Amino acid sequence: MIIKPKVRGFICINAHPQGCAAHVQEQIDYIKDKGPIAGAAKNVLVIGCSTGYGLASRITAAFGGGANTLGVCFEKPPTEKRTASAGYYNTAAFEVAAKEAGLYAETINGDAFSHECKDKAIAMLKEQMGKVDLVVYSLASPRRQDPDSGELFTSVLKPINEGYTAKNLNTDTLKIGDVTVEPANEDEIAQTVKVMGGEDWELWIDALQKADLLADNCKTVSYTYLGEKLTWPIYGHATIGKAKEDLDRASAAINEKLACLGGDAHVSVLKALVTQSSSAIPIMPLYISLLYKVMKEEGTHEGCIEQLYRLFTEGLYTDSPRLDDTNRYRMDNLELLPEIQAKVEELWPQVTEENLMQISDYKGYNEDFLRLFGFGFDGVDYEADTSPLVEADFK
Ligand code: NAD
Repeated sequence: MIIKPKVRGFICINAHPQGCAAHVQEQIDYIKDKGPIAGAAKNVLVIGCSTGYGLASRITAAFGGGANTLGVCFEKPPTEKRTASAGYYNTAAFEVAAKEAGLYAETINGDAFSHECKDKAIAMLKEQMGKVDLVVYSLASPRRQDPDSGELFTSVLKPINEGYTAKNLNTDTLKIGDVTVEPANEDEIAQTVKVMGGEDWELWIDALQKADLLADNCKTVSYTYLGEKLTWPIYGHATIGKAKEDLDRASAAINEKLACLGGDAHVSVLKALVTQSSSAIPIMPLYISLLYKVMKEEGTHEGCIEQLYRLFTEGLYTDSPRLDDTNRYRMDNLELLPEIQAKVEELWPQVTEENLMQISDYKGYNEDFLRLFGFGFDGVDYEADTSPLVEADFK
């Protein structure tokens, strides 16, 4: 089949196998170019390993640290008639490259929230990889089934206390208009915390510790976004922000549990950029388009892989990590520089449908969005008849 992007709203419903492989290779090349990361973990478990920040974490661990990796993700395999999800192709390409480099690289494709998935990971670690010295928790999911009660919880992206109206870019029509989001009720807040809070991160660490699979000095990290004034009403001070506050609670609790091993847990604050998850958040596409414009002009723009390289070298594996007073690694330092935020705030009221392409870097945003699904890479023939089938031996 000829595989061209099929964009529906904020998601692209297909992906290009060779394009996704090129995206993975580009990130591997970036990390290899940087050279080995001293003191990095050698056995790494990445939960949410197939796209965005989790994929970049796995690539950095493997190709910067020389680590064996076990990944967990939830991706759609291909059929004769339909492409796989991008994360499926990414993971297949990652496994091939890691194995070629002589590294252990296996992946569980299943629901990370379930007992079954945790049991499978534990069995594989026991039999194949051994104790882990880094656990990366990078899940982004709209829902979670409680593994004990079977109850299904759904997260919402809503403000708290009062409704919120803001400028929004419809990425389908390129129309800019106001979006109004009604406030969440108590149940919606609680459900969002249940899905995107720290409970499942803790359950993973408990299960690994009980199985004696955490090495001495083991580290674990989970990701958050804090943002600033423009995004607070829909992110930092909204339902998702409440869930992310719960990560700080979980981080403190896990730190106590890991003390006997000399290990530690941290939340890492990462910058806003285009991933499959962030494109679904109201106002984020416009905020990110303006942020890209300003940060590219300043020469400080970063993608997932640049952020993760800095997390490893300026956070996880350095004697002087950049921590805030809540014990979080801060990799969003460049995004939150007052002069960067001031410029984005200045542009925000000015941007219109007419000047979108001049004032903002929507072009760069959209290119990055399509690249998430393997579209727009030099050297990939998008006119060629391409089989969606890619062999992968996920567990
Ligand atoms: P993403 O959508 O690219 O990746 C999500 C990952 O979770 C994928 O590997 C997916 O397969 C996996 N996943 C989802 N549900 C699963 C399930 N039930 N079982 C197993 N795997 C499952 O998201 P992302 O943007 O890379 O986000 C990762 C983390 O980083 C999130 O905690 C997010 O809040 C945080 N973060 C994102 C941004 C941003 O701008 N994108 C900024 C800062 C922090």
